[in-house]
Amino acid sequence: EFALEAIDLKKTYKGGKEALKGVTLRIRRGSIFGLLGPNGAGKSTFINIFAGLVNKTSGQASIWGRDIDREPRNARAAIGIVPQEINMDVFFTPYETLELMAGFYGVPKSERRSEEILAAVGLSDKRDAYVRQLSGGMKRRLLVAKALVHNPPILVLDEPTAGVDIELRRQLWAYVRELHAAGTTIVLTTHYLEEAQELCDEIAIVDHGEVIACEPKEALLKRM
Ligand code: ADP
Ligand code: ADP
Repeated sequence: EFALEAIDLKKTYKGGKEALKGVTLRIRRGSIFGLLGPNGAGKSTFINIFAGLVNKTSGQASIWGRDIDREPRNARAAIGIVPQEINMDVFFTPYETLELMAGFYGVPKSERRSEEILAAVGLSDKRDAYVRQLSGGMKRRLLVAKALVHNPPILVLDEPTAGVDIELRRQLWAYVRELHAAGTTIVLTTHYLEEAQELCDEIAIVDHGEVIACEPKEALLKRM
C-alpha cells in the first residue's frame, strides 16, 4: 500500500480548464516525494483534491490505502496539509492556534501535543505571542505545526518555500528532514529544481496537467 495513490485523476474546472488530464502516481510510504513543475502545471490542484478542497472530475485517489470517496474521514485523518498561503487568525497565539486545530480534528485533550509540536518547529518561546507578531518565517513554521496536530503519517507541503529567502528556505528544509527522519512521509510541490534535488528521494515532473516523468532522483538527474 502507498502513502498517496492517484489513478487516472482528472480535474476540469468550471470554465473548461483541464488542470489534470489523467494523472497516475503512486507515492511510497516513507519517501520524500517532490512534485516538480512550472506554475500552472496542476500541482496545487493535485494536492487540493487529496486535501478535500477541490472535487475531482474523475479517477481515483486514496490516502494511506483509504479511498477519498468511500472513506473520506479516515483518508483525511492520515494527511496533514501545509497550504501555500499563510492564512491564520492573527489574534490567537501559536498555542491557541494548535489547540483550535486539534479541536477541529477531534483530538482528545489527553492526546494533544501542542507543546511538543511547537518545540519541534522551534516556536516554544513564541507559545503565547500573537500570531500577528511573528515573522514570516515563524508563521510558515506555525503552518507546518498546524498540519501536524492530528499526528498524520503524511505531511504535504504546497510550495513550502515559494518567495522565502535562502536562510529561511534552509531552515524549512531542515525541519522537513527532521520530520522525515522521525518517520513522516513527505510530499511537497515545488517549481524549484534545486529544492526537489536537495530534499527529495523521488521526483515526479508535471506539466500541463500531466506527469511527464516519475523516477528516483538520481535516475532523473542523469537524464537532465
Ligand atoms: P500549480 O499549482 O502547478 O501552479 P494549479 O493546480 O494551481 O497549478 O493550476 C493548474 C491550472 O488550473 C492553471 O491553469 C490554473 O489557472 C487553473 N486553475 C486552478 N484553480 C482553478 C480554479 N479554481 N478554477 C479555474 N481554473 C483554475
Ligand atoms: P470545484 O469544481 O472544485 O468546486 P470551481 O471550478 O468551482 O472548483 O472553482 C473554485 C473557485 O476558484 C471558484 O470560485 C473560481 O472563481 C476560483 N478560480 C477560478 N479561476 C481560478 C484560477 N485560475 N486560479 C485559482 N482560482 C480560480
